[in-house]
Amino acid sequence: MIPYGRQDITEDDIQAVEQVLRSDWLTQGPMVPRFEQAVASYCGAAHGVAVNSATSALHIACLALDLGPGDWLWTSPITFVASANCGLYCGARVDFVDIDPLTYNMSPEALAEKLSVAEREGRLPKVVVPVHLCGQSCDMVTIHALSKRYGFHIIEDASHAIGGRYKREPVGCGRYSDITVFSFHPVKIITTAEGGMAVTNDEEIAKRMARLRSHGISRDPQEMVGNPDGPWYYQQIELGFNYRMTDLQAALGLQQLARLDTYVARRNRLAMHYDKALVHLPVTTPWQRPDCVSGRHLYTIRVNPQAGVSRRTMFERLRERGVGVNVHYIPVHTQPYYLAMGFQDGDFPEAERYYGETVSLPMFPTLTDHTQEEVIRAVTQAIQS
Ligand SMILES: *Cc1c(COP(=O)(O)O)cnc(C)c1O
Repeated sequence: MIPYGRQDITEDDIQAVEQVLRSDWLTQGPMVPRFEQAVASYCGAAHGVAVNSATSALHIACLALDLGPGDWLWTSPITFVASANCGLYCGARVDFVDIDPLTYNMSPEALAEKLSVAEREGRLPKVVVPVHLCGQSCDMVTIHALSKRYGFHIIEDASHAIGGRYKREPVGCGRYSDITVFSFHPVKIITTAEGGMAVTNDEEIAKRMARLRSHGISRDPQEMVGNPDGPWYYQQIELGFNYRMTDLQAALGLQQLARLDTYVARRNRLAMHYDKALVHLPVTTPWQRPDCVSGRHLYTIRVNPQAGVSRRTMFERLRERGVGVNVHYIPVHTQPYYLAMGFQDGDFPEAERYYGETVSLPMFPTLTDHTQEEVIRAVTQAIQS
């Protein structure tokens, strides 16, 4: 089965991890800060806080922005559940903003409309989490302008988008948000097995996230109540977690980061070839904003209603032909856990329509031209048979 995504691990990657295994530190050594620095500097952000997953990064990002009971977090319904769950972890309530039918990202028009209603009803969000679906940035200029008008914080969920660019700057530079979060899960653009990072330009937020990652403990006398008892001293000043990344993971991440631009370039070439090869079929290929370079984590097609095959048939025929397609994503508000909170089918019609038609085709840097042709043939046959 040709997978929809897969990691690329080289001999050098293995050696870098092996070196850490033979060193004094498996965790809390020099590799994690080196990786943090490297990612932050790649993005043009001041600080990076590495953690054991993007889910953890989203959680501590929300906490660092003081999200809590009585607050609202809004995100897109077309995302992985983690983008919404982070709000619930903090005791906040979660709501969604429907997607734009062209980009499949959070619709800035729907956001503006929902904000003006929420203002009248006195339930404005404290945090909005735009998700850069498939690696293409959201309309951050508009979302940022709305954040100034309505006073909410922004956490960019860039789990798909490391290596992408928006208006000539790297995703994660922080011009339009408080914090940006990346995922290093093996299906994502670069990997540390499990892993994630939050980048920010705000030193206080960075310090707070670093503390929350490690039990809420500080070794900085400036942050302590009273004076340190001695050089061994630390204080727990709030309730944190063990969300640390290991040095093994960071060593792998550093290796992968060095190949990030090559990966993204290859992904974009593959995407452009799909675009061309599928143009005569009754499927909609992903529209790209002219001011973005997408990280191209996913390549999704929509099976048009007049295609003569349903998405389900398309999915099954491709799987039968050895193409490991997938579906991204089931709208979060239709998950049983969210339905139990009062959401209903029909709440976000564009998201639901997208879900009904979408299939993710294989997209990863080691996908060969030859194998991509196989996928294209399979898609063509799935429609024509
Ligand atoms: C993968 C993903 C996450 C969670 O990442 P983990 O590193 O697996 O915790 C969050 N948001 C989006 C959009 C994702 O795709």
